Amino acid sequence: MGKALVIGCGGVASVAIQKCCQNSEVFEEVCIASRTKSKCDDLKAKLEGKTKTKITTAKVDADNVDELIALINEVKPDIVMNLALPYQDLTIMDACLATKTNYLDTANYEPEDTAKFEYSWQWAYRERFEEAGITALLGSGFDPGVTSVFSAYALKHEFDEIEYIDILDCNAGDHGYPFATNFNPEINIREVSAKGSYWENGEWVETEPMEIKRVYNFPEVGEKDMYLLHHEEIESLALNIPGIKRIRFFMTFGESYLTHLKCLENVGMTSIEPIEYEGKQIIPLQFLKAVLPDPASLGPRTKGKTNIGCIFRGKKDGEDKTYYLYNVCDHEECYQEVGSQAVSYTTGVPAMIGAMMLMTGTWDKNGVYNIEEFDPDPFMDALNKWGLPWKESFEPELVD
Ligand code: NDP
Repeated sequence: MGKALVIGCGGVASVAIQKCCQNSEVFEEVCIASRTKSKCDDLKAKLEGKTKTKITTAKVDADNVDELIALINEVKPDIVMNLALPYQDLTIMDACLATKTNYLDTANYEPEDTAKFEYSWQWAYRERFEEAGITALLGSGFDPGVTSVFSAYALKHEFDEIEYIDILDCNAGDHGYPFATNFNPEINIREVSAKGSYWENGEWVETEPMEIKRVYNFPEVGEKDMYLLHHEEIESLALNIPGIKRIRFFMTFGESYLTHLKCLENVGMTSIEPIEYEGKQIIPLQFLKAVLPDPASLGPRTKGKTNIGCIFRGKKDGEDKTYYLYNVCDHEECYQEVGSQAVSYTTGVPAMIGAMMLMTGTWDKNGVYNIEEFDPDPFMDALNKWGLPWKESFEPELVD
C-alpha cells in the first residue's frame, strides 16, 4: 500500500516500526531516520528477513528543516511518523508542509527552554495543512491517543452527553531499580515536576505538583496511589467533548519514585536552567538523563502490568450513566513480542494504527486534527487486532 518515514529510533519508535513490519500489507516500506543512525541500522538488522516490509535507514537532525525536507524528497513517504521528541514537532510539521506529506505524532510541542506544553503552536498550522491538502494527526500514542479515542467512542456509542472524564494511567511495573523513568527521562521528569491542573466548568484549575492524591483499585492490578497531573489530552478533549464539566488525569507513582524525585528536585538536578560546570554550560536535567538507566534497558527487567483507561459519567436517554474503558498490558509479554516494556508498547502500537488510518484513507480529512476528531470505530477494532485489546465496565469504582 505505501511508505512511512519514521523519525526517531528510541523506545516508542522501535515498537511502532516492529508493528509496521507485522503489518506489511499496509507498510510496504519503512525508512527509519534518526540522529544516531547506528540505532536505525541495528533495528533494521534485527527485523530484516522476518518481514515483507522493505526497511531503509538514514541519518537526520530533526531540528533542521532543510535536512528534513531533503530526506522527505528523497524517500517520498506517504506519511512522516514523528517519534522523536516533542521539541521536534514544529520543524517536522514545517518539512511536511513544504513537501505536502501527511504528519503524525504522539506528544504535543514543547519548547526546549520552557517546560510548558500545549497545542496552540500546532493548532496554528490548521489552515496551512488544509490548503496544502494534507493531514496532521496529533497525539496518536496511548495518552494522548487511545484515551482520546476511548472518549470519542464513549460519546458515539454510550452517552448522549459526557459530563465527567477521569483518565487513569497506572503502571504497576517493577524494574528493580530504585529510580528510573519508563520513557525519555527528560520529558518524563519535566511532566511530573510541573504544576498539576484539571478542567472544570470551562476553566483550568491549577494545583501544586502532586498535591491531589487518590487511591484506586485497578482491575487486574490492585490498589495503587495515584496523583493528579496536567496532561495534554485534557486541552483538546475540553473542546471536542461538548458539554463536558470536568476532565482530570491521574497517574500512579510509587513511594520510592516520589522520594527520589523530591530529593533530586531539592538539590537542583531537575532544573532546565543552564549552569556553568568546568567551563562548560550544562543543563542539570540533561546531565541527570545521562546518568539514569536508559528506558530501553528496562525491558528485560520489568515485571507487572499497566492499566490505562477512562471513567466516563454522563447521561443516556435521560438517565445517569457510568462507563469505564481500559486496556491492561503485561510488561513481560510486550518484551517477549518486541523486546520493549509496556510503556513503549502502549505508545508504539497506536502510532502504527494512526498511521495505518491515514495511509489506507480510512481517516481522510485535510488539516490539523486531534485524534478524537475522527471516527473511533476502526481504530478501536485495530486496537483489538494489533495487541491492545480493551475492556469495558458499567459499574466501575469511581474516583472522588
Ligand atoms: P527516546 O528518548 O527513547 O527516543 C527519542 C528518539 O528521538 C531517539 O532515537 C533520539 O535519537 C531521537 N531524536 C532526538 N532528537 C532528535 C533530533 N534532533 N533529530 C533526530 N532524532 C532525534 O524517547 P521515547 O521513544 O520514549 O519517546 C518518543 C516520543 O513519544 C516522545 O515525544 C514522548 O513524549 C512520546 N511519548 C508519548 C506517549 C503517549 O502515550 N502519547 C507515552 C510515552 C512517550 P538519539 O538516539 O540520537 O538520542
